[in-house]
Amino acid sequence: MASEIFQGGVLDHIGGSWRRPSSEPTTDVLNPATGQVIAQSPAGSAGDVAAAVEAAAAAFPDWRAMPPGDRVQYLFRLKQLLEDHFEEIARITTIENGKTLAESRGELRRGIENIETACGIPTLMQGYNLEDIASGIDELMFRQPLGVVAAITPFNFPSMIPLWFLPYAIACGNTFVLKPSERVPFSIIRIMQLIEKTGLPKGVVNIVNGGKAAVDALLDHPMVQAISFVGSSPVARYVYARAAANGKRAQCQGGAKNHVVVLPDADHDATTKIIADSAYGCAGQRCLAVSVAVTVGEAREWFPKSITGAASVLKVGSGLESDVQMGPVITPSSRHRVEELIAQGASEGARPLLDGRSASASRQTGGNFVGPTVLDGIPASSSLAETEIFGPVLSLIHADSVDDATAIIRHNSFGNASSIFTTSGAAARKFRNEIPTGNVGVNVGVAAPMAYFPFSGWRGSFFGILHAQGRDAVEFYTAEKVVIERWPKEWSRKF
Ligand code: NAD
Repeated sequence: MASEIFQGGVLDHIGGSWRRPSSEPTTDVLNPATGQVIAQSPAGSAGDVAAAVEAAAAAFPDWRAMPPGDRVQYLFRLKQLLEDHFEEIARITTIENGKTLAESRGELRRGIENIETACGIPTLMQGYNLEDIASGIDELMFRQPLGVVAAITPFNFPSMIPLWFLPYAIACGNTFVLKPSERVPFSIIRIMQLIEKTGLPKGVVNIVNGGKAAVDALLDHPMVQAISFVGSSPVARYVYARAAANGKRAQCQGGAKNHVVVLPDADHDATTKIIADSAYGCAGQRCLAVSVAVTVGEAREWFPKSITGAASVLKVGSGLESDVQMGPVITPSSRHRVEELIAQGASEGARPLLDGRSASASRQTGGNFVGPTVLDGIPASSSLAETEIFGPVLSLIHADSVDDATAIIRHNSFGNASSIFTTSGAAARKFRNEIPTGNVGVNVGVAAPMAYFPFSGWRGSFFGILHAQGRDAVEFYTAEKVVIERWPKEWSRKF
């Protein structure tokens, strides 16, 4: 089945029909483990976007009128279909993205959890009310859908990130247009085929492919009421500004530079294992991946050696092989960029304890492999300490005190996630309370919120107010309508 989906090429899904995009193919979809070109994604066009938005707008009145309890029946069916096709979708994700099968399964599981949460919409979407705000006058607040809403998603979680938005958007009664990453279009094409099998009315969910041209057309289309975006910070900032200038509500999740603080009293083995998973899982291409470990005091005596030991034994290769622990990065240019940043770190004063440049797996397979890398002693003021690497590179900075360590995090312009490793409850509590990041881990390396909590993110990692997932998503995808009613008894007929 995986090969069939690739052979079909990159197709749009508009108003219930599969369509070949009208714009020129411009981006190769690669298997990052082999370098093989699987297909080509289109540039995207305003015409295709307009067709998708118009199909969504046409489907909106009937979909919005359907009772919420009936709308979620399609999501219950979708959940079951995803369970039935779980392995097949994970395999497609591994082939187009490069991550290991275990990681692809993990992201699909997280995506399904969002469908499960959105099935609670008859409760989650309720408003509130109060009798007698003045004598004989009542006030009610209803949540109503917005209309056509759109999401623009990145390459690193091809199945999960679209599912941060799609289930809530449609459960709330909106109709939806997705613009997936041009580098990984196939996981969501397969999921769309399953959405069709649920019997969802045509036009409620549409997919339109492409790059910047498609994004700009969505941002400018007057019928699109809301934009959800996940990707790098410069694009997130741009999308937020252009959506706002066009009068749309927007939630834009950006890039990250995540820190963990290792205190001297942290459990050595557990801390090392958890941080290695955070730094090298998904080849470092997670927005919650740790990029910098700050060792405090004597933690510098043991942590550099233990993390280098753990990183050096990771098996790197094709994610389809069951014993492989780390796959490739997404493209050859991504690999070159990461390798150049490792060189930059060395030139800025870091000592490579483990250097993943020229990984042997690349020579053997033609894929985009960078081996696990540890850069020790990065100056906190270096440009690398501020740069999102998005590859399997962990930088180590040493601090004399917890306050010095938290000052490093505070100084950073991103605010996606940070973690502390310690056996001291008081130190953990202070960190949790004071650290300016939206997701915080305590002895947890990837502080990924469950579907029923907001996927937070602060400062340069997020533009907007309401985040993805859970109650935030319901608020984002609905408008509050307040009704104030007076029904004097003297106006009514007597019964
Ligand atoms: P990207 O910003 O290159 O692309 C994201 C989306 O924006 C894609 O759909 C792409 O087609 C579109 N796009 C790209 N350039 C554009 C432009 N100039 N104008 C308009 N649209 C444009 O991001 P990526 O490389 O696909 O994903 C990796 C980035 O996403 C990393 O920075 C990572 O930290 C971030 N990310 C953040 C989160 C989060 O929750 N904060 C989650 C996952 C990934």
